[in-house]
Amino acid sequence: MSLRQASDAANIAQKRLFVGLLGISLMLLVFSAGLAWWVVLETGNVLTRTILAIVLTVMVVFFILMGAGLFVMVWSIWNEKEIRRFQFVIYSVISVLYPFSLSFGKLFGMREDWIKNSFIQVSNHMVRTRLKGRPAERVLILAPHCIQWSECPHKITIEIENCEECGHCLIGELKRMASGAGARLAVATGGTAARQIIKDYRPQGVVAIACERDLTSGIRDMKRFAVIGVLNERPNGPCFNTRVDLRRVEEAIRYFKDAGELVTP
Ligand code: SF4
Repeated sequence: MSLRQASDAANIAQKRLFVGLLGISLMLLVFSAGLAWWVVLETGNVLTRTILAIVLTVMVVFFILMGAGLFVMVWSIWNEKEIRRFQFVIYSVISVLYPFSLSFGKLFGMREDWIKNSFIQVSNHMVRTRLKGRPAERVLILAPHCIQWSECPHKITIEIENCEECGHCLIGELKRMASGAGARLAVATGGTAARQIIKDYRPQGVVAIACERDLTSGIRDMKRFAVIGVLNERPNGPCFNTRVDLRRVEEAIRYFKDAGELVTP
């Protein structure tokens, strides 16, 4: 098996985890609702039964929509095709079922980072299908502040040009990469600053570099924007002199710019 095939197989397995958890969450919710319905039906009076019938009708519609959204999402991932009309339903399914998936996954002994990583793979895939064949002009590379060398004296969060590309950290490389690709590089001090930068610049594509936690919350908050998440590397522990695989960043930029083939980060 080639490296590329091995990487593809790993990505598919990672996506399956989150999609599987979404499916299990939906099934458990349906089961819980059915159980509650049965209990009230057995014990309640006429009034509670009437209320229950109304609630049940709403829930059945809700579950059908969730199930349909999940089905379309799996189909879309499997066939690498976008079904534009269903985008809203798919993103609603993810928004609603995400907290349940996270809780159930942890209950089954899965690490939170695995689940979030899997969510990022699924989200990247959705962005891929969403923009297929549509090159983006305004591309933003959003890097976390912790990627800057901790002893660097230059204030790059306000003005990226202050970086002197000394080579102590990857900011210089990212700066060169952004300039070469006609993209903008910004360094954010935190999630709020990152969201503000995106809202101000209104990019057609965002290459966001961060840890599992920040990427997951950022992608979920910024679902109106096409965000490809690239996980950072933390050889010195969290939030300190972090790094990133530059090939992943370059691939994501290229994807937005050329609307070409992307090796999913
Ligand atoms: S590459 Fe830029 S940001 Fe990094 S340490 Fe050197 S001057 Fe500072």
